[in-house]
Amino acid sequence: DFQFLRCEGCGQDSAQPRLLGCLHTLCPGCLGDTKHCPRCQAAPGAPTMDNLLFCSLRSRLQLWRQICSSGGPGCSRCRAEAALVWCSDCEEFFCGRCFEEHQWWHKKAEHRVRKVEELRAGSARRFMEDTKSSCSLFCSSASHPGESRVCSIYCPRCERALCCPCALLDTRHAPFRDLRVESRRRRAELRELRRDLRRHRGTFGAALERLRGEAARREQQRQRLRERVLASAERLQEVVRREAEELRELLEERPERDRSGLAEELRGAEGALQRLEAAERLAWRLGRYGGEQELMDMQPFVKAALLRLRRLRPPRAPELREPADFALCRARLRAL
Ligand SMILES: [Zn+2]
Ligand SMILES: [Zn+2]
Ligand SMILES: [Zn+2]
Ligand SMILES: [Zn+2]
Ligand SMILES: [Zn+2]
Ligand SMILES: [Zn+2]
Repeated sequence: DFQFLRCEGCGQDSAQPRLLGCLHTLCPGCLGDTKHCPRCQAAPGAPTMDNLLFCSLRSRLQLWRQICSSGGPGCSRCRAEAALVWCSDCEEFFCGRCFEEHQWWHKKAEHRVRKVEELRAGSARRFMEDTKSSCSLFCSSASHPGESRVCSIYCPRCERALCCPCALLDTRHAPFRDLRVESRRRRAELRELRRDLRRHRGTFGAALERLRGEAARREQQRQRLRERVLASAERLQEVVRREAEELRELLEERPERDRSGLAEELRGAEGALQRLEAAERLAWRLGRYGGEQELMDMQPFVKAALLRLRRLRPPRAPELREPADFALCRARLRAL
Protein backbone atom coordinates (compact mmCIF):
# COMPACT_ATOMS: atom_id res chain seq x y z
CA ASP A 1 0.00 0.00 0.00
CA PHE A 2 2.85 2.35 0.72
CA GLN A 3 4.98 1.30 -2.23
CA PHE A 4 4.90 4.92 -3.36
CA LEU A 5 7.52 5.65 -0.68
CA ARG A 6 10.12 3.92 -2.83
CA CYS A 7 12.38 5.86 -5.18
CA GLU A 8 10.54 6.47 -8.44
CA GLY A 9 13.75 5.91 -10.38
CA CYS A 10 15.18 2.63 -9.07
CA GLY A 11 12.34 1.41 -6.89
CA GLN A 12 14.62 1.09 -3.85
CA ASP A 13 13.76 2.14 -0.35
CA SER A 14 15.58 5.35 0.52
CA ALA A 15 16.13 7.06 3.86
CA GLN A 16 16.62 10.48 2.22
CA PRO A 17 14.13 10.80 -0.59
CA ARG A 18 14.39 14.07 -2.49
CA LEU A 19 11.42 15.85 -4.01
CA LEU A 20 11.99 17.33 -7.49
CA GLY A 21 10.35 20.33 -9.08
CA CYS A 22 8.17 17.97 -11.14
CA LEU A 23 6.99 16.47 -7.79
CA HIS A 24 8.48 13.08 -8.48
CA THR A 25 10.62 11.65 -5.70
CA LEU A 26 14.08 10.19 -6.26
CA CYS A 27 16.72 8.70 -3.98
CA PRO A 28 20.00 10.68 -3.81
CA GLY A 29 21.68 8.03 -5.98
CA CYS A 30 19.21 8.40 -8.82
CA LEU A 31 19.13 12.17 -8.48
CA GLY A 32 22.93 12.25 -8.65
CA ASP A 33 23.30 10.48 -11.98
CA THR A 34 20.27 11.64 -13.89
CA LYS A 35 19.91 14.50 -16.31
CA HIS A 36 16.15 14.07 -16.54
CA CYS A 37 13.43 12.80 -14.26
CA PRO A 38 13.13 9.11 -15.21
CA ARG A 39 9.34 9.26 -14.84
CA CYS A 40 8.31 12.38 -16.75
CA GLN A 41 11.53 13.37 -18.59
CA ALA A 42 11.37 16.84 -17.02
CA ALA A 43 14.79 18.37 -16.51
CA PRO A 44 15.30 18.40 -12.74
CA GLY A 45 15.01 22.10 -12.01
CA ALA A 46 17.69 23.16 -9.59
CA PRO A 47 15.63 23.40 -6.39
CA THR A 48 14.88 20.04 -4.84
CA MET A 49 13.93 19.45 -1.24
CA ASP A 50 13.92 16.62 1.24
CA ASN A 51 10.61 14.81 0.92
CA LEU A 52 9.81 15.25 4.61
CA LEU A 53 6.40 13.66 4.18
CA PHE A 54 7.92 10.47 2.80
CA CYS A 55 10.62 10.48 5.55
CA SER A 56 7.95 10.72 8.21
CA LEU A 57 5.72 8.13 6.55
CA ARG A 58 8.69 5.83 6.27
CA SER A 59 9.45 5.97 9.99
CA ARG A 60 5.73 5.60 10.82
CA LEU A 61 5.61 2.59 8.51
CA GLN A 62 8.50 1.11 10.48
CA LEU A 63 6.49 1.61 13.68
CA TRP A 64 3.56 -0.14 12.01
CA ARG A 65 5.77 -3.05 11.06
CA GLN A 66 6.86 -3.34 14.69
CA ILE A 67 3.22 -3.37 15.74
CA CYS A 68 2.47 -6.15 13.26
CA SER A 69 5.62 -8.18 13.91
CA SER A 70 5.08 -11.60 15.45
CA GLY A 71 6.52 -10.63 18.86
CA GLY A 72 4.92 -7.20 18.79
CA PRO A 73 6.82 -4.02 19.66
CA GLY A 74 8.98 -3.86 22.77
CA CYS A 75 8.65 -1.17 25.40
CA SER A 76 10.54 1.93 24.30
CA ARG A 77 11.40 2.83 27.89
CA CYS A 78 12.61 -0.25 29.76
CA ARG A 79 13.33 -2.16 26.54
CA ALA A 80 12.66 -5.39 28.46
CA GLU A 81 8.94 -6.03 28.33
CA ALA A 82 6.57 -6.33 25.40
CA ALA A 83 4.65 -3.11 24.82
CA LEU A 84 0.92 -2.89 25.48
CA VAL A 85 0.29 0.76 24.70
CA TRP A 86 1.28 3.35 22.13
CA CYS A 87 1.37 7.05 23.04
CA SER A 88 0.95 9.28 19.99
CA ASP A 89 2.24 12.32 21.82
CA CYS A 90 5.41 10.70 23.14
CA GLU A 91 5.63 8.54 19.99
CA GLU A 92 6.66 5.65 22.19
CA PHE A 93 5.54 2.15 23.11
CA PHE A 94 5.01 1.29 26.78
CA CYS A 95 4.82 -1.89 28.79
CA GLY A 96 2.26 -2.05 31.58
CA ARG A 97 4.61 -0.85 34.29
CA CYS A 98 6.21 1.95 32.25
CA PHE A 99 2.74 3.06 31.13
CA GLU A 100 1.68 3.56 34.77
CA GLU A 101 4.71 5.75 35.24
CA HIS A 102 3.83 7.65 32.00
CA GLN A 103 0.31 8.26 33.25
CA TRP A 104 1.64 9.58 36.52
CA TRP A 105 3.99 12.02 34.77
CA HIS A 106 1.45 13.25 32.23
CA LYS A 107 -1.51 13.41 34.55
CA LYS A 108 -2.58 16.80 33.23
CA ALA A 109 -1.45 16.55 29.63
CA GLU A 110 -3.94 13.90 28.49
CA HIS A 111 -1.73 12.12 25.98
CA ARG A 112 -3.53 10.22 23.25
CA VAL A 113 -2.80 6.56 23.91
CA ARG A 114 -3.98 3.44 22.06
CA LYS A 115 -3.65 -0.22 22.93
CA VAL A 116 -1.19 -2.02 20.68
CA GLU A 117 -3.77 -4.79 20.28
CA GLU A 118 -6.34 -2.34 18.90
CA LEU A 119 -3.83 -0.81 16.53
CA ARG A 120 -2.89 -4.22 15.24
CA ALA A 121 -6.55 -4.95 14.50
CA GLY A 122 -6.77 -1.78 12.41
CA SER A 123 -5.11 -1.01 9.07
CA ALA A 124 -1.78 0.53 8.17
CA ARG A 125 -3.56 3.36 6.43
CA ARG A 126 -5.56 4.11 9.54
CA PHE A 127 -2.43 4.09 11.68
CA MET A 128 -0.69 6.49 9.28
CA GLU A 129 -3.67 8.84 9.37
CA ASP A 130 -3.91 8.72 13.14
CA THR A 131 -0.24 9.46 13.62
CA LYS A 132 -0.15 12.41 11.24
CA SER A 133 -0.75 15.23 13.71
CA SER A 134 1.10 13.76 16.61
CA CYS A 135 4.43 15.37 15.91
CA SER A 136 4.79 18.74 17.55
CA LEU A 137 6.40 21.52 15.61
CA PHE A 138 9.46 22.96 17.26
CA CYS A 139 10.66 26.53 16.81
CA SER A 140 13.68 26.69 14.55
CA SER A 141 14.75 30.19 15.60
CA ALA A 142 18.45 30.64 16.33
CA SER A 143 17.69 32.74 19.39
CA HIS A 144 17.32 29.75 21.71
CA PRO A 145 19.74 27.08 20.58
CA GLY A 146 19.58 23.79 22.44
CA GLU A 147 16.15 24.54 23.81
CA SER A 148 13.24 23.09 21.89
CA ARG A 149 10.07 25.12 22.19
CA VAL A 150 6.78 24.08 20.69
CA CYS A 151 5.39 26.43 18.06
CA SER A 152 1.87 27.76 18.22
CA ILE A 153 2.12 30.94 16.18
CA TYR A 154 2.54 31.56 12.47
CA CYS A 155 4.15 34.63 10.93
CA PRO A 156 2.79 35.15 7.38
CA ARG A 157 5.60 37.55 6.54
CA CYS A 158 8.35 34.98 7.21
CA GLU A 159 6.01 32.10 6.27
CA ARG A 160 7.31 30.36 9.37
CA ALA A 161 6.04 28.85 12.61
CA LEU A 162 7.32 30.41 15.78
CA CYS A 163 7.23 29.78 19.49
CA CYS A 164 5.39 32.33 21.60
CA PRO A 165 8.46 34.06 23.06
CA CYS A 166 10.10 34.40 19.64
CA ALA A 167 6.95 35.89 18.17
CA LEU A 168 6.45 38.38 20.97
CA LEU A 169 10.07 39.42 21.49
CA ASP A 170 10.81 40.26 17.86
CA THR A 171 8.64 43.09 16.53
CA ARG A 172 9.39 42.20 12.92
CA HIS A 173 6.98 39.26 13.21
CA ALA A 174 3.52 40.74 12.87
CA PRO A 175 0.64 40.35 12.35
CA PHE A 176 0.42 36.78 13.60
CA ARG A 177 -1.86 33.96 12.77
CA ASP A 178 -2.72 30.94 14.86
CA LEU A 179 -0.68 27.97 13.67
CA ARG A 180 -3.78 25.75 13.54
CA VAL A 181 -5.65 28.29 11.46
CA GLU A 182 -2.70 28.53 9.10
CA SER A 183 -2.46 24.78 8.65
CA ARG A 184 -6.19 24.61 7.98
CA ARG A 185 -5.76 27.38 5.42
CA ARG A 186 -2.89 25.52 3.77
CA ARG A 187 -4.86 22.29 3.66
CA ALA A 188 -7.80 24.11 2.08
CA GLU A 189 -5.49 25.76 -0.42
CA LEU A 190 -4.04 22.35 -1.34
CA ARG A 191 -7.54 20.93 -1.80
CA GLU A 192 -8.48 23.84 -4.05
CA LEU A 193 -5.32 23.47 -6.14
CA ARG A 194 -5.87 19.75 -6.40
CA ARG A 195 -9.42 20.30 -7.70
CA ASP A 196 -8.12 22.80 -10.27
CA LEU A 197 -5.42 20.37 -11.33
CA ARG A 198 -7.89 17.56 -11.74
CA ARG A 199 -9.94 19.70 -14.14
CA HIS A 200 -6.76 20.68 -15.92
CA ARG A 201 -5.71 17.06 -16.18
CA GLY A 202 -9.09 16.23 -17.70
CA THR A 203 -8.47 18.80 -20.44
CA PHE A 204 -5.00 17.41 -20.98
CA GLY A 205 -6.27 13.86 -21.13
CA ALA A 206 -8.86 14.83 -23.75
CA ALA A 207 -6.22 16.61 -25.84
CA LEU A 208 -3.93 13.60 -25.55
CA GLU A 209 -6.76 11.32 -26.64
CA ARG A 210 -7.34 13.51 -29.70
CA LEU A 211 -3.63 13.38 -30.52
CA ARG A 212 -3.57 9.62 -30.16
CA GLY A 213 -6.64 9.35 -32.38
CA GLU A 214 -4.93 11.50 -34.98
CA ALA A 215 -1.80 9.35 -34.82
CA ALA A 216 -3.87 6.20 -35.21
CA ARG A 217 -5.74 7.69 -38.20
CA ARG A 218 -2.44 8.57 -39.84
CA GLU A 219 -1.17 5.06 -39.29
CA GLN A 220 -4.34 3.70 -40.93
CA GLN A 221 -3.92 6.02 -43.90
CA ARG A 222 -0.33 4.94 -44.27
CA GLN A 223 -1.39 1.29 -44.17
CA ARG A 224 -4.13 1.83 -46.75
CA LEU A 225 -1.74 3.62 -49.09
CA ARG A 226 0.80 0.84 -48.70
CA GLU A 227 -1.84 -1.73 -49.59
CA ARG A 228 -2.92 0.29 -52.61
CA VAL A 229 0.67 0.56 -53.85
CA LEU A 230 1.10 -3.19 -53.53
CA ALA A 231 -2.21 -3.89 -55.25
CA SER A 232 -1.41 -1.55 -58.16
CA ALA A 233 2.03 -3.05 -58.53
CA GLU A 234 0.49 -6.50 -58.75
CA ARG A 235 -2.17 -5.31 -61.19
CA LEU A 236 0.45 -3.62 -63.35
CA GLN A 237 2.63 -6.70 -63.36
CA GLU A 238 -0.37 -8.73 -64.44
CA VAL A 239 -1.22 -6.24 -67.21
CA VAL A 240 2.36 -6.22 -68.45
CA ARG A 241 2.58 -10.00 -68.34
CA ARG A 242 -0.68 -10.42 -70.25
CA GLU A 243 0.34 -7.80 -72.82
CA ALA A 244 3.68 -9.49 -73.39
CA GLU A 245 1.94 -12.81 -73.77
CA GLU A 246 -0.52 -11.43 -76.32
CA LEU A 247 2.21 -9.72 -78.32
CA ARG A 248 4.27 -12.90 -78.36
CA GLU A 249 1.29 -14.90 -79.62
CA LEU A 250 0.59 -12.26 -82.24
CA LEU A 251 4.13 -12.56 -83.55
CA GLU A 252 4.14 -16.34 -83.53
CA GLU A 253 0.89 -16.65 -85.46
CA ARG A 254 2.25 -14.27 -88.00
CA PRO A 255 3.65 -16.76 -90.63
CA GLU A 256 0.31 -18.59 -90.92
CA ARG A 257 -1.66 -15.46 -91.32
CA ASP A 258 0.79 -13.97 -93.77
CA ARG A 259 -1.12 -12.53 -96.70
CA SER A 260 1.60 -10.46 -98.23
CA GLY A 261 2.63 -13.43 -100.44
CA LEU A 262 6.12 -13.52 -99.09
CA ALA A 263 5.75 -17.12 -97.96
CA GLU A 264 4.52 -18.34 -101.37
CA GLU A 265 7.15 -16.32 -103.12
CA LEU A 266 9.75 -18.02 -100.96
CA ARG A 267 8.37 -21.47 -101.57
CA GLY A 268 8.25 -20.84 -105.33
CA ALA A 269 11.79 -19.53 -105.46
CA GLU A 270 13.13 -22.44 -103.45
CA GLY A 271 11.40 -24.96 -105.76
CA ALA A 272 12.77 -23.21 -108.87
CA LEU A 273 16.27 -23.26 -107.51
CA GLN A 274 16.05 -27.00 -106.85
CA ARG A 275 14.71 -27.61 -110.36
CA LEU A 276 17.54 -25.60 -111.89
CA GLU A 277 20.12 -27.58 -109.92
CA ALA A 278 18.50 -30.88 -110.89
CA ALA A 279 18.39 -29.86 -114.58
CA GLU A 280 22.00 -28.82 -114.51
CA ARG A 281 23.01 -32.15 -113.00
CA LEU A 282 20.96 -34.18 -115.50
CA ALA A 283 22.24 -32.22 -118.51
CA TRP A 284 25.79 -32.72 -117.37
CA ARG A 285 25.30 -36.48 -116.80
CA LEU A 286 23.50 -36.94 -120.10
CA GLY A 287 26.34 -35.19 -121.93
CA ARG A 288 29.03 -37.10 -120.15
CA TYR A 289 27.65 -40.61 -119.78
CA GLY A 290 24.89 -40.79 -122.38
CA GLY A 291 25.39 -42.94 -125.50
CA GLU A 292 23.86 -42.15 -128.82
CA GLN A 293 20.77 -44.16 -128.11
CA GLU A 294 20.02 -42.08 -125.01
CA LEU A 295 20.86 -38.85 -126.81
CA MET A 296 18.47 -39.67 -129.57
CA ASP A 297 15.65 -40.67 -127.19
CA MET A 298 15.95 -38.13 -124.41
CA GLN A 299 17.61 -35.01 -125.70
CA PRO A 300 14.48 -33.36 -127.19
CA PHE A 301 12.52 -33.84 -123.94
CA VAL A 302 15.38 -32.57 -121.79
CA LYS A 303 16.00 -29.66 -124.08
CA ALA A 304 12.39 -28.55 -123.92
CA ALA A 305 12.52 -28.70 -120.12
CA LEU A 306 15.80 -26.76 -120.04
CA LEU A 307 14.35 -24.10 -122.28
CA ARG A 308 11.35 -23.80 -119.96
CA LEU A 309 13.67 -23.43 -117.07
CA ARG A 310 15.70 -20.78 -118.80
CA ARG A 311 12.59 -18.68 -119.09
CA LEU A 312 12.25 -18.59 -115.33
CA ARG A 313 12.83 -15.14 -113.88
CA PRO A 314 14.64 -14.95 -110.56
CA PRO A 315 12.38 -13.65 -107.87
CA ARG A 316 12.42 -9.95 -107.30
CA ALA A 317 12.13 -8.88 -103.74
CA PRO A 318 8.40 -8.49 -103.64
CA GLU A 319 7.01 -5.21 -102.67
CA LEU A 320 6.33 -5.97 -99.10
CA ARG A 321 4.31 -3.70 -96.97
CA GLU A 322 5.12 -4.11 -93.33
CA PRO A 323 2.30 -6.12 -91.80
CA ALA A 324 -0.10 -4.03 -89.75
CA ASP A 325 0.62 -6.28 -86.75
CA PHE A 326 4.21 -5.05 -86.53
CA ALA A 327 3.11 -1.48 -86.17
CA LEU A 328 0.54 -2.56 -83.57
CA CYS A 329 3.20 -4.46 -81.60
CA ARG A 330 5.55 -1.49 -81.67
CA ALA A 331 2.84 0.88 -80.50
CA ARG A 332 1.82 -1.41 -77.65
CA LEU A 333 5.44 -1.91 -76.58
CA ARG A 334 5.92 1.84 -76.49
CA ALA A 335 2.75 2.21 -74.41
CA LEU A 336 4.14 -0.22 -71.84
ZN1 LIG B 1 16.65 5.62 -6.83
ZN1 LIG C 1 9.25 13.91 -12.88
ZN1 LIG D 1 8.64 -0.75 30.00
ZN1 LIG E 1 2.80 10.27 26.24
ZN1 LIG F 1 11.42 30.23 19.33
ZN1 LIG G 1 8.13 36.92 10.81
